[in-house]
Amino acid sequence: MNFKIAAIAGDGIGPEIVREARKVLDKIGKEYGHTFTYEELLMGGCSIDAYGEPLTDETLEKAKKCDSVLLGAVGGNVGQSSWYQLEPDKRPEAGLLKIRKGLELYANIRPAVLFDELSGACPLKPELTEGGFDFVVMRELTGGLYFGERKTVEENGVVKAIDTLTYDENEIRRIAKWGFDVAMKRNKKVCSVDKANVLDSSRLWRKVVREVAKDYPEVELSDMLVDNCAMQLVRDPKQFDVILTENMFGDILSDEASMVTGSIGMLASASLGAGSLGLYEPSHGSAPDIAGQDKANPIATILSAAMMLRYSFDLEEEADAVENAVKQVLKDGYRTVDIMSEGKTQVGTVQMGDLICENIVTVHSNKQKKATQEREEKS
Ligand code: NAD
Repeated sequence: MNFKIAAIAGDGIGPEIVREARKVLDKIGKEYGHTFTYEELLMGGCSIDAYGEPLTDETLEKAKKCDSVLLGAVGGNVGQSSWYQLEPDKRPEAGLLKIRKGLELYANIRPAVLFDELSGACPLKPELTEGGFDFVVMRELTGGLYFGERKTVEENGVVKAIDTLTYDENEIRRIAKWGFDVAMKRNKKVCSVDKANVLDSSRLWRKVVREVAKDYPEVELSDMLVDNCAMQLVRDPKQFDVILTENMFGDILSDEASMVTGSIGMLASASLGAGSLGLYEPSHGSAPDIAGQDKANPIATILSAAMMLRYSFDLEEEADAVENAVKQVLKDGYRTVDIMSEGKTQVGTVQMGDLICENIVTVHSNKQKKATQEREEKS
């Protein structure tokens, strides 16, 4: 099959990690008979330098015409870069909000996986994480407090700032459906997180999620208050499968979940909308402190590309092949500097990408060997 991918490398380590993810996708294409072509687009600081704004309308239109979008990261050193002397809506990160909105992506999935091989990086006590954990935070992306009306006024000589948290039932219903759909492909458990003891928007959230749950009788639904969820993530992360929540709670909880896994360079993410086009990007930023030094861990971006194969292109086996190759490389003891530990072999960004590619061949040919063996045994 042929797929056209918008490749938005961005700033800092973005070009290095997107290059490795493309290398892995091309390897998958070669092994499994697909063609991936790339439309290279500018967003973030590099777009400001080229066009004076972080994402032009033309670039957005080009991205919309692709089958999916692979993004590195945008932004520079906030204290030093001239990009941050611009108005907030002209800064690199404004491109992120514009592309999510422009592509009508309202569901963000962030997996939090504790790989056995990296359990030492987890800051929690070993008895809490024995056997690893694997859950996703499903966050609503285009509503709530971050997109509500806001203003700063002065009343009787006192400055007052107002932000508005709004959700309508349709916004809640469509993200809830994604939450349940993803749970159906996993362990069939949804924990809906809100603040229904205080907020009206949360009470509506809870009501609509319960309505949607009726269409998914196989999925076990539970509700949890956001403050409790923040505690449970560090007390017993193994209890979760899909955490379904609104924009701001999801922003905070997904960052907390990523820290529980212990390594920012490993965390993939996907943003989805109504169609098959999605935006796939690592959860970390552009890491300007290590840009251009062959130090960045490309695994988060490579795992994001695997999510693209699964959610946008429906290539389940190919996605598994990438994820298994990553696991094998870790098992073989290779580490980039951010996840390095004693007795392991330190590699750079490029070598990590190469090793993952090599293991895709192994995983795939092992599969082929097994299939041939099974056929021979049957005949
Ligand atoms: P960051 O995630 O870029 O970096 C935090 C720390 O983690 C740094 O020490 C960095 O070296 C390290 N790190 C991050 N990714 C790594 C990787 N793949 N491999 C190895 N080490 C890695 O966060 P920050 O320093 O707060 O932000 C830097 C810039 O990125 C800022 O301009 C910020 O606005 C932007 N940012 C962009 C996104 C995005 O594009 N989605 C997200 C967050 C931050």
